[in-house]
Amino acid sequence: MFLEVSQLEVRYTGRTQAAVQGVTLNLKAGDIGVLIGPSGCGKTTLLRAVAGLEPVTGGEIRLTKSVVSSATLSVPPELRRIGMVFQDYALFPHLSVGRNVAFGIHQLPRAEQAARVAEVLQLVGLTGSEHRYPHELSGGQQQRVALARALAPRPQLMLLDEPFSNLDVDLRERLAHEVRGILKAAGATALFVTHDQFEAFAIGDVIGVMNEGHLHQWDDAYTLYHRPATRFVADFIGHGVFAPATLVQRGNNVVAQTPLGDLTDLDECPLPSSYPAGECDVLLRADDIVHDDHAPVQAQIVRKSFRGSEFLYTLRLASGHTVLAHVPSHHDHALGEWIGIRAQVDHVVTFPRG
Ligand code: ADP
Repeated sequence: MFLEVSQLEVRYTGRTQAAVQGVTLNLKAGDIGVLIGPSGCGKTTLLRAVAGLEPVTGGEIRLTKSVVSSATLSVPPELRRIGMVFQDYALFPHLSVGRNVAFGIHQLPRAEQAARVAEVLQLVGLTGSEHRYPHELSGGQQQRVALARALAPRPQLMLLDEPFSNLDVDLRERLAHEVRGILKAAGATALFVTHDQFEAFAIGDVIGVMNEGHLHQWDDAYTLYHRPATRFVADFIGHGVFAPATLVQRGNNVVAQTPLGDLTDLDECPLPSSYPAGECDVLLRADDIVHDDHAPVQAQIVRKSFRGSEFLYTLRLASGHTVLAHVPSHHDHALGEWIGIRAQVDHVVTFPRG
């Protein structure tokens, strides 16, 4: 493994709660890992610890097998060969793009510097911009210069902390795809921090969901969405609700009895004996709920938000339970209207009753 973080703890002095606690993750060479989670969950602290900017109080960080951080050792940041890109691109305003990008490669002979600058500017799609100045560039272009500057010294690991958060939403999603392309073309291994799950999905090969200093899951996007390891991950990724359910054995199959009726034909459903009296909560995603005029279950629309090709409806059942549903946007029902719904769940995700 390229980057190995094991049982990491980072505690700021004077704080009772550790900012990062028991975090273990591995990143393969060439992979892009993304840390996502609500504000204050410890993402930046973890990134800064990997950079060597924050001392660790427990566990260790290894880069290509060598320990770079532990409670008793800290390799200085400049010896870690890490490239960093932060939210405020922090380009030097009085230096040209070329000189900004050459900043970390001053030790190279002039001609080599110029060649490397041209190479990374090409990589970020800014060929020939050497003589321009930061103020002449758009926010997205400035951020790409910052990326080129970080890549120029051929770091072994790139760290990016919310690099797009100052940019507007449209640009952010496009840049997220672009940056993934650039990092892949550079063959870089990278760890990226964001609080935006669309950005995480657009960029990451592996995504880690953090909350209150803990890493809840470190997996690819598909697994996070379909097999969330904890209630927190289930809640944080995608749209869904938990509904009370009772698992019962029916012949060779397990059936989940829910407020939306019985869920049958379930793959990978836990056995009823996994929970006391088979009682648990099931995750019902908005895309598991299908609008069907002929369904026996009716639900009232209490909220709706337009998302282009579909609506996200918030629906209340007669039982008082709430579910969410993605419904194609040509089904434009009014608030307060009752519509038929049924659940279409292939593999059920269950948790102990909350
Ligand atoms: P995130 O990047 O996910 O928003 P941070 O890593 O910035 O989270 O913060 C994690 C926790 O550590 C928060 O409770 C924050 O208040 C605390 N924290 C961050 N930086 C410091 C610091 N320099 N001194 C003390 N506490 C800090």
